[in-house]
Amino acid sequence: MNYYDQSTQIYLNGSFLSAQSAGINVYSQALHYGYGVFEGIRAYNTHNGSRMFKAEEHFERLKNACDRLHIPFPWSIADLIESSYKLLEVNNMRSAYIRPLVMSGSDMHFSVPQQSNILIAAWEWGPFLGQKLVNLTVSALKRFDAEATGQIQAKISGQYFQSILATNEARSKGFDEALLLDKDGYIAQASSENIFIEKDYKLYTPPLGQIYPGITRSTVIAICNRLNIDVEEKPLTLADLKDADSAFLCGTATEIIGVASVDGVQFPENWTETLGATIQRTYKNLVLETENYEVII
Ligand code: PMP
Repeated sequence: MNYYDQSTQIYLNGSFLSAQSAGINVYSQALHYGYGVFEGIRAYNTHNGSRMFKAEEHFERLKNACDRLHIPFPWSIADLIESSYKLLEVNNMRSAYIRPLVMSGSDMHFSVPQQSNILIAAWEWGPFLGQKLVNLTVSALKRFDAEATGQIQAKISGQYFQSILATNEARSKGFDEALLLDKDGYIAQASSENIFIEKDYKLYTPPLGQIYPGITRSTVIAICNRLNIDVEEKPLTLADLKDADSAFLCGTATEIIGVASVDGVQFPENWTETLGATIQRTYKNLVLETENYEVII
Protein backbone atom coordinates (compact mmCIF):
# COMPACT_ATOMS: atom_id res chain seq x y z
CA MET A 1 0.00 0.00 0.00
CA ASN A 2 0.98 3.66 -0.39
CA TYR A 3 1.38 5.41 2.92
CA TYR A 4 1.61 8.83 1.33
CA ASP A 5 1.43 10.75 -1.92
CA GLN A 6 2.48 14.26 -3.05
CA SER A 7 -0.26 15.87 -1.00
CA THR A 8 0.29 14.00 2.32
CA GLN A 9 1.36 16.13 5.27
CA ILE A 10 3.21 14.97 8.37
CA TYR A 11 3.85 16.72 11.68
CA LEU A 12 7.54 17.19 12.50
CA ASN A 13 8.76 19.08 15.59
CA GLY A 14 5.87 21.55 15.61
CA SER A 15 5.38 22.12 11.87
CA PHE A 16 3.31 20.46 9.20
CA LEU A 17 5.23 19.59 6.07
CA SER A 18 4.99 17.41 3.04
CA ALA A 19 5.80 13.74 3.74
CA GLN A 20 7.92 13.72 0.60
CA SER A 21 10.15 16.56 1.74
CA ALA A 22 10.74 15.34 5.33
CA GLY A 23 14.45 14.51 5.39
CA ILE A 24 15.67 11.98 7.96
CA ASN A 25 18.64 12.41 10.25
CA VAL A 26 21.19 9.90 8.96
CA TYR A 27 23.15 10.10 12.26
CA SER A 28 20.16 9.37 14.49
CA GLN A 29 20.51 6.58 17.07
CA ALA A 30 16.94 5.73 16.13
CA LEU A 31 18.04 4.83 12.63
CA HIS A 32 21.23 2.94 13.56
CA TYR A 33 20.32 1.36 16.90
CA GLY A 34 16.52 1.40 16.92
CA TYR A 35 16.69 3.87 19.83
CA GLY A 36 13.31 5.42 19.22
CA VAL A 37 9.84 4.98 20.64
CA PHE A 38 6.54 4.96 18.83
CA GLU A 39 2.80 4.66 19.33
CA GLY A 40 -0.17 3.51 17.32
CA ILE A 41 -3.48 5.30 17.76
CA ARG A 42 -6.72 5.01 15.86
CA ALA A 43 -9.05 7.85 14.93
CA TYR A 44 -12.64 6.88 14.13
CA ASN A 45 -15.24 8.73 12.13
CA THR A 46 -17.95 8.99 14.79
CA HIS A 47 -21.22 10.90 15.02
CA ASN A 48 -19.21 13.33 17.21
CA GLY A 49 -16.71 13.90 14.38
CA SER A 50 -13.27 12.37 14.03
CA ARG A 51 -12.24 11.01 17.44
CA MET A 52 -8.97 9.46 18.52
CA PHE A 53 -9.63 6.55 20.87
CA LYS A 54 -7.79 6.99 24.20
CA ALA A 55 -5.43 9.58 22.71
CA GLU A 56 -4.23 10.78 26.09
CA GLU A 57 -3.40 7.27 27.28
CA HIS A 58 -1.40 6.58 24.12
CA PHE A 59 0.61 9.81 24.35
CA GLU A 60 1.17 9.23 28.10
CA ARG A 61 2.50 5.78 27.27
CA LEU A 62 4.78 7.34 24.65
CA LYS A 63 6.09 9.82 27.21
CA ASN A 64 6.62 7.09 29.83
CA ALA A 65 8.54 5.00 27.31
CA CYS A 66 10.75 8.01 26.46
CA ASP A 67 11.33 8.63 30.17
CA ARG A 68 12.36 4.99 30.65
CA LEU A 69 14.84 5.29 27.77
CA HIS A 70 16.05 8.76 28.85
CA ILE A 71 14.91 10.23 25.53
CA PRO A 72 13.98 13.90 26.05
CA PHE A 73 10.24 14.52 25.75
CA PRO A 74 9.86 18.32 25.82
CA TRP A 75 6.34 18.39 24.32
CA SER A 76 2.97 18.83 25.99
CA ILE A 77 0.58 15.94 25.51
CA ALA A 78 -2.34 18.33 24.99
CA ASP A 79 -0.42 20.03 22.15
CA LEU A 80 0.43 16.70 20.55
CA ILE A 81 -3.21 15.63 20.65
CA GLU A 82 -4.27 18.94 19.13
CA SER A 83 -1.59 18.62 16.43
CA SER A 84 -2.73 15.07 15.66
CA TYR A 85 -6.27 16.32 15.06
CA LYS A 86 -4.87 19.11 12.90
CA LEU A 87 -2.86 16.51 10.97
CA LEU A 88 -6.08 14.60 10.22
CA GLU A 89 -7.68 17.84 9.08
CA VAL A 90 -4.83 18.89 6.75
CA ASN A 91 -4.86 15.40 5.24
CA ASN A 92 -8.62 15.42 4.97
CA MET A 93 -8.94 12.21 7.00
CA ARG A 94 -11.63 11.28 9.46
CA SER A 95 -10.67 7.74 10.31
CA ALA A 96 -6.99 6.90 10.29
CA TYR A 97 -4.13 5.15 11.99
CA ILE A 98 -1.87 7.69 13.64
CA ARG A 99 1.80 6.99 14.23
CA PRO A 100 3.78 9.26 16.55
CA LEU A 101 7.51 8.46 16.57
CA VAL A 102 10.09 9.96 18.88
CA MET A 103 13.63 9.69 17.50
CA SER A 104 16.82 10.39 19.35
CA GLY A 105 19.05 13.03 17.76
CA SER A 106 22.54 12.73 16.25
CA ASP A 107 24.95 10.62 18.29
CA MET A 108 26.82 7.51 17.28
CA HIS A 109 28.06 6.84 20.84
CA PHE A 110 26.16 4.71 23.32
CA SER A 111 25.19 7.71 25.40
CA VAL A 112 21.62 8.66 26.15
CA PRO A 113 20.39 11.33 23.75
CA GLN A 114 20.46 15.01 24.63
CA GLN A 115 17.99 15.90 21.94
CA SER A 116 15.00 14.27 20.25
CA ASN A 117 12.53 14.82 17.44
CA ILE A 118 8.90 13.90 17.16
CA LEU A 119 7.06 13.14 14.00
CA ILE A 120 3.44 12.17 13.59
CA ALA A 121 2.16 10.50 10.44
CA ALA A 122 -1.36 9.32 9.64
CA TRP A 123 -2.63 6.93 7.04
CA GLU A 124 -5.81 5.07 6.23
CA TRP A 125 -5.67 1.51 7.50
CA GLY A 126 -8.36 -1.11 7.87
CA PRO A 127 -8.16 -3.67 10.70
CA PHE A 128 -4.52 -4.89 10.68
CA LEU A 129 -5.32 -8.60 10.29
CA GLY A 130 -8.49 -8.12 8.25
CA GLN A 131 -11.93 -9.08 9.51
CA LYS A 132 -12.00 -12.85 9.09
CA LEU A 133 -11.04 -15.21 11.90
CA VAL A 134 -7.29 -15.77 11.98
CA ASN A 135 -5.18 -18.93 12.01
CA LEU A 136 -2.23 -18.77 14.39
CA THR A 137 1.00 -20.69 14.57
CA VAL A 138 3.34 -20.84 17.52
CA SER A 139 6.57 -19.08 16.59
CA ALA A 140 9.98 -20.62 17.07
CA LEU A 141 10.99 -17.22 18.52
CA LYS A 142 10.45 -16.56 22.22
CA ARG A 143 9.09 -13.16 23.26
CA PHE A 144 11.80 -10.86 24.63
CA ASP A 145 12.50 -11.61 28.26
CA ALA A 146 11.33 -8.67 30.39
CA GLU A 147 14.36 -8.98 32.64
CA ALA A 148 16.79 -9.06 29.72
CA THR A 149 15.56 -5.79 28.23
CA GLY A 150 14.03 -4.20 31.33
CA GLN A 151 11.72 -2.38 28.92
CA ILE A 152 8.88 -4.75 28.08
CA GLN A 153 6.36 -1.91 28.58
CA ALA A 154 8.03 0.45 26.10
CA LYS A 155 7.22 0.40 22.39
CA ILE A 156 10.85 0.62 21.31
CA SER A 157 11.47 0.72 17.57
CA GLY A 158 14.42 -1.71 17.71
CA GLN A 159 12.34 -4.47 19.31
CA TYR A 160 10.09 -4.76 16.29
CA PHE A 161 12.51 -6.78 14.19
CA GLN A 162 11.15 -9.75 16.19
CA SER A 163 7.53 -9.01 15.22
CA ILE A 164 8.55 -8.75 11.56
CA LEU A 165 10.46 -12.04 11.63
CA ALA A 166 7.74 -13.89 13.55
CA THR A 167 4.96 -12.61 11.27
CA ASN A 168 6.98 -13.40 8.19
CA GLU A 169 7.66 -16.93 9.44
CA ALA A 170 3.94 -17.46 10.12
CA ARG A 171 2.84 -16.09 6.73
CA SER A 172 5.41 -18.13 4.86
CA LYS A 173 3.80 -21.24 6.36
CA GLY A 174 0.31 -20.14 5.34
CA PHE A 175 -0.83 -18.79 8.74
CA ASP A 176 -2.12 -15.29 9.47
CA GLU A 177 -0.25 -14.43 12.63
CA ALA A 178 2.44 -15.70 14.99
CA LEU A 179 1.90 -16.52 18.63
CA LEU A 180 4.96 -16.10 20.85
CA LEU A 181 5.66 -17.96 24.07
CA ASP A 182 7.68 -16.39 26.85
CA LYS A 183 11.05 -17.68 28.02
CA ASP A 184 9.35 -20.15 30.42
CA GLY A 185 7.12 -21.54 27.70
CA TYR A 186 3.91 -19.79 28.77
CA ILE A 187 1.78 -17.99 26.21
CA ALA A 188 2.90 -14.38 25.90
CA GLN A 189 1.10 -12.76 22.98
CA ALA A 190 0.90 -12.46 19.22
CA SER A 191 3.47 -10.38 17.32
CA SER A 192 1.50 -7.17 17.80
CA GLU A 193 -1.60 -8.17 19.76
CA ASN A 194 -2.50 -9.47 23.19
CA ILE A 195 -4.51 -12.68 23.53
CA PHE A 196 -7.58 -13.81 25.49
CA ILE A 197 -9.00 -17.32 25.66
CA GLU A 198 -12.48 -18.43 26.67
CA LYS A 199 -13.13 -21.58 28.69
CA ASP A 200 -16.47 -22.45 30.30
CA TYR A 201 -17.91 -18.92 29.89
CA LYS A 202 -14.88 -17.28 31.47
CA LEU A 203 -12.03 -15.31 29.86
CA TYR A 204 -8.37 -15.70 30.67
CA THR A 205 -5.38 -13.65 29.57
CA PRO A 206 -1.66 -13.82 30.42
CA PRO A 207 -0.71 -11.53 33.32
CA LEU A 208 1.47 -8.43 32.93
CA GLY A 209 5.17 -9.14 33.26
CA GLN A 210 6.29 -10.80 30.05
CA ILE A 211 3.82 -9.11 27.72
CA TYR A 212 3.33 -5.70 26.21
CA PRO A 213 0.63 -3.99 28.33
CA GLY A 214 -1.81 -3.18 25.54
CA ILE A 215 -4.35 -0.41 25.93
CA THR A 216 -6.85 -2.59 24.07
CA ARG A 217 -6.16 -5.43 26.54
CA SER A 218 -7.03 -3.15 29.45
CA THR A 219 -10.08 -1.87 27.54
CA VAL A 220 -11.24 -5.49 27.11
CA ILE A 221 -10.84 -6.10 30.84
CA ALA A 222 -12.83 -2.92 31.56
CA ILE A 223 -15.59 -4.07 29.15
CA CYS A 224 -15.70 -7.44 30.96
CA ASN A 225 -16.10 -5.69 34.29
CA ARG A 226 -18.96 -3.60 32.91
CA LEU A 227 -20.70 -6.56 31.30
CA ASN A 228 -20.12 -8.87 34.29
CA ILE A 229 -18.02 -11.23 32.22
CA ASP A 230 -15.61 -13.20 34.40
CA VAL A 231 -12.02 -12.47 33.40
CA GLU A 232 -8.81 -13.64 35.04
CA GLU A 233 -5.17 -12.78 34.39
CA LYS A 234 -3.13 -15.94 34.83
CA PRO A 235 -0.23 -17.77 33.17
CA LEU A 236 -1.55 -19.89 30.31
CA THR A 237 0.04 -22.92 28.69
CA LEU A 238 -0.29 -24.08 25.11
CA ALA A 239 -2.43 -26.94 26.43
CA ASP A 240 -4.81 -24.37 28.01
CA LEU A 241 -5.03 -22.60 24.66
CA LYS A 242 -5.67 -25.72 22.61
CA ASP A 243 -8.30 -26.84 25.13
CA ALA A 244 -10.11 -23.47 25.05
CA ASP A 245 -13.63 -22.95 23.67
CA SER A 246 -12.52 -19.87 21.72
CA ALA A 247 -9.84 -17.19 21.63
CA PHE A 248 -9.31 -13.69 20.31
CA LEU A 249 -6.51 -11.18 19.74
CA CYS A 250 -6.70 -7.49 20.53
CA GLY A 251 -4.71 -4.39 19.72
CA THR A 252 -5.23 -0.86 18.46
CA ALA A 253 -4.44 -1.67 14.84
CA THR A 254 -6.14 -5.09 14.87
CA GLU A 255 -9.04 -4.13 17.18
CA ILE A 256 -10.70 -7.42 18.29
CA ILE A 257 -10.32 -10.44 16.04
CA GLY A 258 -11.42 -14.01 16.64
CA VAL A 259 -8.96 -16.89 16.32
CA ALA A 260 -10.05 -19.87 14.22
CA SER A 261 -7.19 -22.23 15.03
CA VAL A 262 -3.73 -22.66 16.52
CA ASP A 263 -1.39 -24.84 14.49
CA GLY A 264 -4.39 -26.50 12.89
CA VAL A 265 -6.30 -27.15 16.15
CA GLN A 266 -9.71 -25.51 15.63
CA PHE A 267 -11.70 -23.90 18.45
CA PRO A 268 -15.04 -25.65 18.91
CA GLU A 269 -17.31 -22.70 19.64
CA ASN A 270 -19.03 -20.80 16.85
CA TRP A 271 -17.38 -17.33 16.91
CA THR A 272 -20.65 -15.39 16.88
CA GLU A 273 -21.68 -17.12 20.11
CA THR A 274 -18.45 -16.47 21.99
CA LEU A 275 -17.71 -13.93 24.69
CA GLY A 276 -15.10 -12.58 22.26
CA ALA A 277 -17.83 -11.67 19.75
CA THR A 278 -19.72 -9.78 22.47
CA ILE A 279 -16.52 -7.93 23.38
CA GLN A 280 -15.87 -7.22 19.68
CA ARG A 281 -19.33 -5.60 19.30
CA THR A 282 -18.98 -3.62 22.51
CA TYR A 283 -15.51 -2.41 21.55
CA LYS A 284 -16.80 -1.17 18.20
CA ASN A 285 -19.58 0.73 19.95
CA LEU A 286 -17.08 2.20 22.39
CA VAL A 287 -14.65 3.48 19.76
CA LEU A 288 -17.48 4.79 17.58
CA GLU A 289 -19.08 6.40 20.64
CA THR A 290 -22.38 4.72 19.84
CA GLU A 291 -22.71 2.72 23.06
CA ASN A 292 -25.35 5.03 24.55
CA TYR A 293 -27.51 4.74 21.46
CA GLU A 294 -27.38 0.95 21.75
CA VAL A 295 -28.62 1.22 25.32
CA ILE A 296 -31.44 3.57 24.31
CA ILE A 297 -32.47 1.36 21.38
N1 PMP B 1 1.81 -6.10 21.68
C1 PMP B 1 2.63 -5.45 20.84
C2 PMP B 1 4.02 -5.97 20.65
C3 PMP B 1 2.18 -4.33 20.13
O1 PMP B 1 3.01 -3.69 19.29
C4 PMP B 1 0.85 -3.89 20.32
C5 PMP B 1 0.33 -2.73 19.53
N2 PMP B 1 0.65 -1.52 20.14
C6 PMP B 1 0.04 -4.57 21.23
C7 PMP B 1 0.55 -5.67 21.88
C8 PMP B 1 -1.35 -4.07 21.54
O2 PMP B 1 -1.25 -2.86 22.23
P1 PMP B 1 -2.40 -1.76 22.13
O3 PMP B 1 -3.66 -2.44 22.52
O4 PMP B 1 -2.01 -0.72 23.13
O5 PMP B 1 -2.42 -1.26 20.76
